[in-house]
Amino acid sequence: MEPQEIGTLEANLQRVRMRIRAACERVGRSEGDVRLIAVTKYTTVEVMRALIALGVEDIGESRVQDTAPKRAVLGAAHTRWHLIGHLQRNKVAKALELYDVVHSLDSARLGDELDRRSTRPVEALIQINVAGESSKGGLHPDELGRLLEHAARWESVRVRGLMTIAPRADDSAKAELRSVFAQLRELRDEMNRGGRFETQLVHLSMGMTQDYELAIEEGATLVRVGSALLEGLENSVRSTN
Ligand SMILES: *Cc1c(COP(=O)(O)O)cnc(C)c1O
Repeated sequence: MEPQEIGTLEANLQRVRMRIRAACERVGRSEGDVRLIAVTKYTTVEVMRALIALGVEDIGESRVQDTAPKRAVLGAAHTRWHLIGHLQRNKVAKALELYDVVHSLDSARLGDELDRRSTRPVEALIQINVAGESSKGGLHPDELGRLLEHAARWESVRVRGLMTIAPRADDSAKAELRSVFAQLRELRDEMNRGGRFETQLVHLSMGMTQDYELAIEEGATLVRVGSALLEGLENSVRSTN
């Protein structure tokens, strides 16, 4: 990357971090409770290397086949790799080699397969389809209790929280987005009440470029931000996905 491009990337990263901090302050949360996951599915290894050099510790990718060559070059030292896209069962073994956290666990069968094949602890978040959009993956909120009961048998898979993808902002008012995030938080809190399940759900993975500040105001602990980091870097952005 040209020095000028690195400057642009650094300014973008600082702006996102500043907005995260401001959103935390608005609702009296501590900045340290929110982790920025830099979503790099659109971009190149060079940009990813620069992000890591600028202090990014969490990388989000949506497809196994795209992550493999990137991770082969960048390695795992000081970086946590998050799978944020749908995982097919036939890619589980490969995914376990690549990711530290799977955000898209959405069925008992997928969890069973992850657990059966994993030789080390793997963190997972259960993806919930809060808004009931047919185009999106994720479990219906009513199915979560049953999956958490099932999860008690997993030895390697540790369910650490919930993830959701909000509807597109173009189609939804801000109040609707806020309500989606609030529903995910309430669902988490409901599951944690009364020690019904072995695992306590800690994380809420919610919010992307269009809505991460709103998501933080509603309790996000992990925000997945891609486009906002790449503004002004058109040459470094792939046109796919
Ligand atoms: C691509 C993607 C993101 C990042 O989206 P931006 O709008 O570029 O910030 C976040 N979460 C998921 C699940 C994604 O697929």
